[in-house]
Amino acid sequence: MSRVVVLGAGVSGHTAAAFTRSWLARGDEVVVVSPKPDYNWIPSNVWVGVGLMPREKVRFPLAPIYARAGIEFKQAAAVAIHPEGRESDPTPFVVVESTVPGKEGTREEVRYDFLINATGPKLNFGATEGLGPGGHTLSVCTDSHAEDTARHFLDSVERMKRGDRQRFLIGTGHGACTCQGAAFEYIVNLEFELRARGVRDRADVWWISNEYELGDFGMGGIHLKRGGYITPSKIFTESLFAERGIRWINRAHVTKVEPGKAHYETLDGQVRAADFDMAMLLPPFAGVGLKAFDKAGADITTSMFMPNGFMRVDADYTARPYEQWSARDWPKTYQSPAYRNVFAAGIAFAPPHPISRPRQTPSGAPVAPAPPRTGMPSAMIGKAVAHSVVDMIKGAPGPTRSASMAAMGAACVASAGSNPFTGTAAAMTVFPIVPDFERYPEYGRDMNQTFGEIGLAGHWIKILLHHLFIYKAHLYPGWRLIPE
Ligand SMILES: Cc1cc2nc3c(=O)[nH]c(=O)nc-3n(C[C@H](O)[C@H](O)[C@H](O)COP(=O)(O)OP(=O)(O)OC[C@H]3O[C@@H](n4cnc5c(N)ncnc54)[C@H](O)[C@@H]3O)c2cc1C
Repeated sequence: MSRVVVLGAGVSGHTAAAFTRSWLARGDEVVVVSPKPDYNWIPSNVWVGVGLMPREKVRFPLAPIYARAGIEFKQAAAVAIHPEGRESDPTPFVVVESTVPGKEGTREEVRYDFLINATGPKLNFGATEGLGPGGHTLSVCTDSHAEDTARHFLDSVERMKRGDRQRFLIGTGHGACTCQGAAFEYIVNLEFELRARGVRDRADVWWISNEYELGDFGMGGIHLKRGGYITPSKIFTESLFAERGIRWINRAHVTKVEPGKAHYETLDGQVRAADFDMAMLLPPFAGVGLKAFDKAGADITTSMFMPNGFMRVDADYTARPYEQWSARDWPKTYQSPAYRNVFAAGIAFAPPHPISRPRQTPSGAPVAPAPPRTGMPSAMIGKAVAHSVVDMIKGAPGPTRSASMAAMGAACVASAGSNPFTGTAAAMTVFPIVPDFERYPEYGRDMNQTFGEIGLAGHWIKILLHHLFIYKAHLYPGWRLIPE
């Protein structure tokens, strides 16, 4: 009998746990450890954050789903991995701390035969003074953040209806942020809602980001095929913003946020401030801070994790100049190089290097978008890792599946509005996610599989995906048929 422990019940961990359970024999155990009792379908937080969708539609309790699926659920946060067990007993284990009300902080050792770390990001608001819900800006990274953001947004709308002007600042709150796509989707939704609510003429809508050009998205930009033409994502995004009257500040590292004012430094050394009545700025991501110890109790965190807290896997982490980075540096199996029974999936794995060229301001601050690990690759990696783990339990000598982001495509649909008739969406597909200039010398990507369009059809896809993925996450009948 084998025991697979999955840390995290987000897109990647939930997918990995569900497939592992469905492919393993009943006598084998699957355990999920996650600090929140609910699943949150994060992409739809954007709609919650403009008051278009109640929070209840994007989250639901995990315990009944896992009980039905035969997965043990522990509502707890993992704090330390002991991949060699102890000198007295080599069984590996994870130390977890309960988050169940009334039992907070109670520690437990959870033993495993295979471990899948899918703990996602720490939302590192602390990297910028005054950033985040504890400070002076809002977020849509969690369903509760998004609900709070909606309250502020609707309050601003009421002020505008009474005749006030409001200034909105949306984007990234640090020079090392990732996930620009989520902030982009939020700003187009916000702008759409301002028009729908009849107050657009009283709003100034500003974008601020660490991207070198609009449409970089932490992917070094994209060349998209549109109506037979190749369009850089810079042009695509600039024209989308221009049409909507959204103004932008690029190449910016936000240094500090005060009430109503975000201070920033640009790549060319200008030190400025942007005023706002409401700001939704994403934080940079870090690993969740797991520690690791060997059998003697010595701290081996730095050998299992990179300095940013993400887990080392089968990537090539050799430090090299940007020009020498290759698509082949990216991990394939997500197995820890140190422990064959440990894997990291989704945002929890450490990318070998950024995709966009990293830059610095004259004062040394980063203007360096980190690579995105969006929902689709996170789920595909979770599934591939589950496959490898199950095969290894059944006797395979090593991982059997590969899911390199340099050999995988992704679809991204950034919608505005949630109404099936009045909404619109910018839909993009990209292949591969990590550009491969050896295979595709011109643009790094396959132009027959990298395209973008704006319109109602993409919006229908987004609505369909919302319902399909929430159905799938409930593990309702036929869930395996719904693609990642
Ligand atoms: C606002 C927003 C909109 C987005 N929109 C899109 C979109 O439209 N399309 C798209 O593809 N992607 C989108 N993304 C990205 C997508 O949400 C992520 O790629 C995806 O959630 C990553 O999955 P993950 O499982 O790695 O991390 P997460 O989904 O963040 O899951 C991490 C899990 O680990 C748990 N955890 C945390 N700490 C611990 C611990 N110590 N021990 C155990 N468990 C722990 C968390 O509670 C959570 O359950 C969006 C992201 C944001 C923020």
